[in-house]
Amino acid sequence: RCRHYLETTCYTCDSSSFIVQTLRKAHTKEFYMTFDTARADDLNKRLAVVLRDFARTLTTAFPMQGIVDHLVAQIVDVLPVSGAGVTLISHDLGPNYVSASNDAALGFEQLQSEYGDGPCILAYESGESVAVPDLNVDDRFPVFGPAARAKGLGAVFTFPLRRGDGCIGALDLYRETTGSLSLHEMITAETMADVVSACLINAEAREQADAASARYLYDALHDPLTGLPNRTLLIDRLDEANLRAKRSRRYTSVYFVDLDRFKLVNDHHGHHVGDALLIAVARRFENMLRAEDTAARISGDEFVFLCEALVDEAEADLIGKRIEKAFEQPFVVEGLRLSVSASIGMAVAGPGEAVSNDLIVRSDTAMYLIKRHRGGRRHVVGKIDSGLNSLPQNFKQEIGDALEKGELAVAYQPIVRTSDSVISGVEALLRWEHPIRGQVPPLLIVGTAERSKLINLIGEWVLEQSCAALVAWGPDACPVPFTMSVNVSARQLVSGDFFRTVERAVERAGVDPTQLVLEMTENLLIEDSDRALKVLHDLRRLGVRISLDDFGTGYSSLSYLTRLPIDIVKIDQSLVTRVTGGPEAVVVSAVTNVALELGMVVVAEGIENKEQCDEIARIGCDYAQGFYFAEPTAAAEIKEIDWASPLPNGLPAAVVT
Ligand code: C2E
Ligand code: MG
Ligand code: MG
Repeated sequence: RCRHYLETTCYTCDSSSFIVQTLRKAHTKEFYMTFDTARADDLNKRLAVVLRDFARTLTTAFPMQGIVDHLVAQIVDVLPVSGAGVTLISHDLGPNYVSASNDAALGFEQLQSEYGDGPCILAYESGESVAVPDLNVDDRFPVFGPAARAKGLGAVFTFPLRRGDGCIGALDLYRETTGSLSLHEMITAETMADVVSACLINAEAREQADAASARYLYDALHDPLTGLPNRTLLIDRLDEANLRAKRSRRYTSVYFVDLDRFKLVNDHHGHHVGDALLIAVARRFENMLRAEDTAARISGDEFVFLCEALVDEAEADLIGKRIEKAFEQPFVVEGLRLSVSASIGMAVAGPGEAVSNDLIVRSDTAMYLIKRHRGGRRHVVGKIDSGLNSLPQNFKQEIGDALEKGELAVAYQPIVRTSDSVISGVEALLRWEHPIRGQVPPLLIVGTAERSKLINLIGEWVLEQSCAALVAWGPDACPVPFTMSVNVSARQLVSGDFFRTVERAVERAGVDPTQLVLEMTENLLIEDSDRALKVLHDLRRLGVRISLDDFGTGYSSLSYLTRLPIDIVKIDQSLVTRVTGGPEAVVVSAVTNVALELGMVVVAEGIENKEQCDEIARIGCDYAQGFYFAEPTAAAEIKEIDWASPLPNGLPAAVVT
């Protein structure tokens, strides 16, 4: 008794030919089992070789197609057939041949796949082996049969490729001559079919595992929204670039790109439009990149470019311009045309200089500076001044140390009434005279400190110093409504308990809160508007006044004047410098009129000469600030000013030493 097949001479019908059928389907009850022991041994040996080969493929990463081709070729050596083929079959896709031992077998495989008819379909559907010892007398395959006969096929034996309870296809054995296979040959063929099946299942599982791990790796290194590299991959590429840079005499540049007012796109049009815009920006970036460049999305609306092997700094500048140009055309997303601008910071490492995360930090700081002071232009690429180009990695730490060691200082710049040029208040401005680097721009300090809680410490310190200075100058020198204006970063406003910090500072110093003005820029205010607005309202209830700083830079909108709780508008220097004769006069005039209508006070910043002073007075700005009146000055020197007399060009003679 074997598993399925019997090789018998039929006594009932007295057939002289061998019939091969499954036991269940046998049409005879009585039979002899005949065995050719020598042939069985030979088959077993050959089968053992095939199984050994197969076992080896299980432990290699050999591709599926190669394994199946090899097995199919071996089957023809082992069994008395002229060709073999494998067809994969599924309910949805029908038969699809994947391998054949020779051209003739390939032809028969094609016929079955093409017609959707043949023993492979029957084997697949029944899950049983199908033997056709003589194609001439078998009428089960009306389409395949005649076509295959015409191509010289005499017999075909097909074995299902089993997977669990189902099938994935069939192994076809073709012979030009007619006649059955012996019992052992049938058993061997069936074993081979199981081997092919195991091979395919194993290879498929391996391919799926490989694909899953490749997918996992890809996901871990890419931004899911845009498909661009993420921060992790960017840092990897930076490390690789560093190795390459060490061996070359080329430049490496990094660009930090931050979309302007992206939050407004989300707020006005919904997050789906915001997402679509980010994708459109990413696609535009990809199209302009050289193959060796990297464009990464590292968070929300922040992208970073890494460009290597540049000949000189001029080439780095050129790439900066190209990135800038990417924003010239509007983005069409979800049926909307969105004109988007960006602030771009750039940092370059020359030959021999390390390519590290420091480049990202520097370009980020440059971007921040440009966002704050972009002088009304739409897109600007900014670099940190050459003197500060090599910001140390621990720059933030240095600032913290400077604060602790008392190296930071506050300078005060008078703000004057335009009607009589008498001082009405001062603005407190952070100063740091670095022992090696000299004067460090406050925006660089603030920009770096804002990336951590350090900004809160610095902000609180400036606030305390300013309140203390006001008290030290005394009520005679600065009677109410003399004001002390202190700059506040938006991050400061929304982190920690800023309201309490202010309340504590005025209480401790004994300053009238109505003398305190807090200056903040609107482009940072809108980033976190809900929370910021609440704090602003609380502060105003305390009596503190809020000033909108740098109005007119980049993308200020008159609508902010109505939306934000503001008492004072400071018109930015970039508008004021061109107020004499330029179209900016109209803008300054419009802003002033709107602000005055809304009951606000208007201060013009950066007045450098008499013409500008006269023009803004004519327009109707109540207050002015600038080098024309006085430069930012130490607290002790401010005290020397004769508060009652008008400020001429520069500080009064008594102060200029
Ligand atoms: P800001 O608040 O707009 O301050 C005015 C800036 O204009 C100051 O630059 C001042 O020195 C400069 N300035 C004043 N008059 C003139 C003029 O006639 N011509 C020119 N060309 N410039 C003039 P500074 O001190 O470099 O400060 C830059 C920015 O740094 C400030 O802009 C402010 O945004 C920020 N900042 C300064 N101190 C602090 C601070 O304590 N906290 C925060 N958060 N930011 C600060
Ligand atoms: Mg200010
Ligand atoms: Mg300003």
